[in-house]
Amino acid sequence: MSAQYLQVAVPVPMRQLFTYKVPEELISEINVGERVIVPFANRQVIGIVLEIQSHCDVPENKLKTILSRINDNYHFDPLLLAFVRRCAEYYHHPIGDVFQQALPVLLRQVEQPDVAPTQLWHSATDITDDALSKLKKRASKQLALFQLIASHQGLSWPELRTLNYNKAQLKALADKALIIKKPAEIKTFAWQENALATDNKLNLSVEQAVIVAAVKQSLNQYACHLVEGVTGSGKTEVYLQAMEQVLASHQQVLVLVPEIGLTPQTLSRFEQRFKVPIYLHHSGLNDKERLDTWLSAQRGNAAIIIGTRSAIFTPLHKLGLIIVDEEHDSSFKQQDSFRYHGRDMAIMRARQLNIPIVLGSATPSLESLQNALSGKYHYHQLLKRAGNSSKAKIELVDMANQPTEFGLSSNIKKAMKQTLARGEQVLLFLNRRGYAPAINCKECHWIADCQRCDKPYTLHQGQQLLICHHCGSQKRIPLQCPSCGSPRIAPLGQGTEQLEHRISDMFADYSVVRIDRDSTRRKGELAKLLQEVTDNKHQLLIGTQMLAKGHHFPNVTLVLMLDIDGALFSYDFRAAENMAQLLVQVAGRAGRASKPGKVMVQSYFPEHPLLQDLVHNGYNHFARQALTERSQALLPPFTFQALFRAEANYPSYPEKFIRQLCQVQYQGCELAGPIPAAMEKKAGKFRYHLIVQAKSRKALHLGVQALLQQIMVNELQTKVRWSVDIDPTDLSW
Ligand code: ADP
Ligand code: ZN
Ligand code: ZN
Repeated sequence: MSAQYLQVAVPVPMRQLFTYKVPEELISEINVGERVIVPFANRQVIGIVLEIQSHCDVPENKLKTILSRINDNYHFDPLLLAFVRRCAEYYHHPIGDVFQQALPVLLRQVEQPDVAPTQLWHSATDITDDALSKLKKRASKQLALFQLIASHQGLSWPELRTLNYNKAQLKALADKALIIKKPAEIKTFAWQENALATDNKLNLSVEQAVIVAAVKQSLNQYACHLVEGVTGSGKTEVYLQAMEQVLASHQQVLVLVPEIGLTPQTLSRFEQRFKVPIYLHHSGLNDKERLDTWLSAQRGNAAIIIGTRSAIFTPLHKLGLIIVDEEHDSSFKQQDSFRYHGRDMAIMRARQLNIPIVLGSATPSLESLQNALSGKYHYHQLLKRAGNSSKAKIELVDMANQPTEFGLSSNIKKAMKQTLARGEQVLLFLNRRGYAPAINCKECHWIADCQRCDKPYTLHQGQQLLICHHCGSQKRIPLQCPSCGSPRIAPLGQGTEQLEHRISDMFADYSVVRIDRDSTRRKGELAKLLQEVTDNKHQLLIGTQMLAKGHHFPNVTLVLMLDIDGALFSYDFRAAENMAQLLVQVAGRAGRASKPGKVMVQSYFPEHPLLQDLVHNGYNHFARQALTERSQALLPPFTFQALFRAEANYPSYPEKFIRQLCQVQYQGCELAGPIPAAMEKKAGKFRYHLIVQAKSRKALHLGVQALLQQIMVNELQTKVRWSVDIDPTDLSW
């Protein structure tokens, strides 16, 4: 038998494949896409077979042989393999790492995982009326859980948990023999007549119907639809009805949501509409649960997968439609190692599979909007809110001309009082955690800086600690100024923790709740606090960006944006776009039909043209204006960017490294660098940027390729840590 050689993607930070020999007994056995165990630098790692060859240029004695084959059926099919390879190429990221990230954690390990089917909950068959009536009397949450399981037989624990039920409720029902669990049947999903629940299906408005018809018309071919519609305009209903026909033809649907976008309300709408197997993939799941989702897709028993960005790599063999909800959301972009954009890869996958994709948002990204305006995407707008709810009004409050108290202007305090008196809730939005963003000495103005980042420590009063929000290092609060010895050390500026204290004092008759990363660290805490808000236990909500996404607060009728000025004068050309999106998203979360909401934005620059445009003409107008500016400034989406980041313990290394790269001409590309990063020093490392910009994607791609080759021969490449980011969205690092 003739020899065989494998080209294997190995999980190492190198942009190349590695050649291995196939042992005699496995020749002609191994297929492309399989996982194999290979030796690599004294370790055993899992690699993916990308090519099989009968000839090899590397001398025999230099070649290693694969150790074994993982014969478990969980390999990459040719289409998914091609897709993942394309992702690695597009992002110029080490191919082995891309393949690793496309696999669930448990399939990256040499040890074999437990692949027993998921346990699903069903209602028991012999239920006594007595047991049910007891539930009705005493346990309304248990009753709701029981009814959910009874109407949608076969629900998994991750689904129930996402829907805000807990283990105790589940156990109570199981103990009463009202529900039983059975392993999920491993059979290919097939649509059944009764899988569509028509009782909650809505009659589409004309606007909605046009979109659904357009998507249906484009089934089984590539088309990208951008649906722009404010929160509450009926986008979800459009998704649901567009999915019907896909599912009915036994095809699968992938729904991508932002990191914290999957609310119980959204999931329950999918559950209520379709009695089909739905699997979830998000950061709230453990490794085993994620593997379950992956396997359910791979085995073909999942009909719908709802997940965050990495769900784009699930092996769906009969994918018929992709939906990306809140497509503008920055969490679709992974911000470390393999810096891919979930939405962009979703479009690439739809193109590869020749299927339609729907992007939805109240505030489309300028990238998507430009593609829609230029005719690359089908552009749909939902201008009216469904039903008859009205949109929240945005009002600018000039901070300069009125007294303020703890960062609140007097106008705003008045509005708060009125809202609370009506029995409605107020949301205060401040995107800064902690008690104060710095502490200083009142005598000599010394500021406590983190030595590793050269940035002020944030004061966390509750924990009695100074914490660096950039590197996480902690320090005790000094009793005396280390510079002049004065004991007059005081907080500088205001964070959510301090605001909570101030507001509690100012409005002592009302309950205040703070929802940020610090107050929701414990598992289940966020869901608990959100429930308390819904139950009106708190009247004043203080939150960071976390609160702007996903959640709907019908009784919040006043939203206060306390500190947005930074975005107006940022080094980041996307800051204004992001601020506008945030404002509109927050406005959309507040109020409902009978109680319209109001958003008040405090600013020292209320005359700023961006703010004026947004407030008076709305996001769509603002966005077109912003596109004109981007076009004139030759910025994305009219040009294409890549960002090389370099860091080292000494500033001279990354600086010189980038300067040397810039000495070469790269055709069609403009280079800017070395530029110190906005956070020039972080965790003891000095950081520099090189921005590559090109008029075409092709030129950018070639330029990056040439730069990578330059790096390979650069004397400093081992002394600096560097990475490349294609289509960067975060320029702060
Ligand atoms: P979005 O996803 O844009 O926020 P939804 O699809 O959730 O909007 O719709 C918002 C609200 O309007 C929901 O309560 C939904 O039931 C209702 N709704 C949506 N479409 C219609 C319709 N065609 N007729 C009546 N109500 C609708
Ligand atoms: Zn001092
Ligand atoms: Zn630090």
